[in-house]
Amino acid sequence: MSYWNTYKSVVLATLFFSLLLTSCSAPLPPPKETVAFEGGIMGTTYHITVVAAMNDDVSTAMAEAIEGALKHVDGKMSTYKDDSELSVLNRMAGGAYIPVSGEVFSMLQLALEVNRETEGAFDITVGPLVNRWGFGPDDKQEPPSDEELASLKALCGPEAITLDALTQSIQKVSDGVYCDLSGIAKGYAVDLVASVLEAKGFMNYMVEVGGEVRTAGLNSVGIPWKIAIEKPVDEGRVLQEVVGLSDISLATSGNYRNFYEVDGKRYSHTISPATGKPVDHNLASVSVLHPRCALADAYATALMVLGPEKGMAVAERLALPVMFVTHSDKGTFETRQSESFRAYIVD
Ligand code: ADP
Ligand code: MG
Repeated sequence: MSYWNTYKSVVLATLFFSLLLTSCSAPLPPPKETVAFEGGIMGTTYHITVVAAMNDDVSTAMAEAIEGALKHVDGKMSTYKDDSELSVLNRMAGGAYIPVSGEVFSMLQLALEVNRETEGAFDITVGPLVNRWGFGPDDKQEPPSDEELASLKALCGPEAITLDALTQSIQKVSDGVYCDLSGIAKGYAVDLVASVLEAKGFMNYMVEVGGEVRTAGLNSVGIPWKIAIEKPVDEGRVLQEVVGLSDISLATSGNYRNFYEVDGKRYSHTISPATGKPVDHNLASVSVLHPRCALADAYATALMVLGPEKGMAVAERLALPVMFVTHSDKGTFETRQSESFRAYIVD
């Protein structure tokens, strides 16, 4: 089953760049050993590289711990799993305060903070709209009428939920309020895997889940992790830019993989809370760097909602290193990077 943004926009590239290294005159230490872990989760894939020597017992235990952490997040925050904590919450009636787990509560809180910071663009209460437009667990249908859209929009907005930190609970103001954490959960899953690795003493690693990446320390040849960002093309995978990352996360939000077309019109999985409709602008992808992958993920989705001009203004206000790729009238791509982003680009 395909969910949580099956195809994603970033290709990891833990490139070794031995050519670069051989051009130096001093003899270089040989690459350190690495261990790779990969698999599928949340309707997408994950790839993890750890710079370390591990015997079979340790690597098997680490593989289990990683898989366990990823399944744990899926079991809490998936809207595709009927029995996830979030799905149970979404089926509950409005009015009463419902206690939730610490992790779900902290993601709800973080999401509300990002909502405030991004002029309402990141809004996890858009769930009813996401589902109605066919980007959630519900089947695709004809686009909604204006009347239906208005009634769904009435269920959305940050005021549709109230959080109580003391009792770690959430109140949905009415029945039908539906929270969708898909725009932040992959990033959170990346952060959780990173903490699992660090708890075991691994400090040089790259974790990627569905295109959201977190790096720590250096790669096996002692340089920052080289991560390739794809061009936002519908077919195939073409390199856009390579960034060198150490102790920072990268999330990319795009409208070129998760969309459908009706009568030649493209419907994107990113919903504008202002209009209640899929966004409709020429921004093809947004990449954001932030220490926390959950935040990079949420900001990338938010900036994608805001579009090229407002999005760049908000990114500047929040001092986020970002890269925006827009479709030009000529059918080519135009790239804009904040100055802080340019510092990460490597050849
Ligand atoms: P991307 O970052 O590529 O847009 P994500 O997987 O991070 O992809 O988030 C997209 C998902 O977030 C959508 O499929 C939907 O479930 C949810 N979503 C859509 N619009 C919004 C929004 N305005 N705010 C928060 N989440 C949203
Ligand atoms: Mg996101």
